[in-house]
Amino acid sequence: MFTEFVDRRPRVLCLSGHDPSGGAGIHADLEAIAAQGAHALTVITALTAQDSRDVRRVLPVAPAQLAEQIDLLLADGAIAAIKIGLLGDAAQIPPIVDTIRRAGAPVVCDPVLRAGGGANLSAAATSAALLDGLLPHVDLLTPNAAEARRLSGLDDDVAAARALRERSGRHVLVTGGDETGDDVRNVWLDADGWIREFRWPRLAARFHGAGCTLASAIAGRLAAGDGWAAAIEAGQRYTHGALAGAYRAGGGRLIPNRSAR
Ligand code: PLP
Repeated sequence: MFTEFVDRRPRVLCLSGHDPSGGAGIHADLEAIAAQGAHALTVITALTAQDSRDVRRVLPVAPAQLAEQIDLLLADGAIAAIKIGLLGDAAQIPPIVDTIRRAGAPVVCDPVLRAGGGANLSAAATSAALLDGLLPHVDLLTPNAAEARRLSGLDDDVAAARALRERSGRHVLVTGGDETGDDVRNVWLDADGWIREFRWPRLAARFHGAGCTLASAIAGRLAAGDGWAAAIEAGQRYTHGALAGAYRAGGGRLIPNRSAR
């Protein structure tokens, strides 16, 4: 009955961790991507034990299990964008790079190194492998300012963005949500080296899953056909709205309201 007239949605392949508290990771990806009119394919890189306050443990999924899931999804239809979040360990990078090569879609990577609650989410070896093995294949890296500093070893966020862009040759968006000041300042260094600054009024709350929401919304916009500038602008606007409408679902930080439009 539903044949050629059925609505077709662009597919976004998400490679992210599972957060059972529903604030970050694959929950955030799924909701933010659906809100852009795209469909999320959810390959989980790691299970975690965490609540709305902090992460206690990260349990990586075996690379062969990732590869089997991805093979089936790639054979089932085109991929319009890829979103990468938490990596379980460095051994996951080869199958992910292979996926990027085969899918031929824009790649948005949110380098998840440290949880907002303070837990370290990435071993030094995984961060090093991300820089050397994954970053050259990423089209947009979306570190928060602290992650940009840690990955680049530089204190200034623009200098850090430049150093990270040297490694990928592509776009870098450094976000300032976890910094201080009246405004949240996000800095986009584009693939040609142009800088654009965005400012959003700082909201008086702490959030769980803001970074995942932003990276996924941008991937969803790219999948829906936006160019880089439009997707980066729309992704921030959507995320700001989700944070402005955030709700409480635990004793810790607030959860972005990703179903508000
Ligand atoms: N858990 C998972 C699976 C994540 O992907 C992330 C961040 O991307 C976090 C936890 C931490 O999120 P936050 O720093 O917003 O608390």
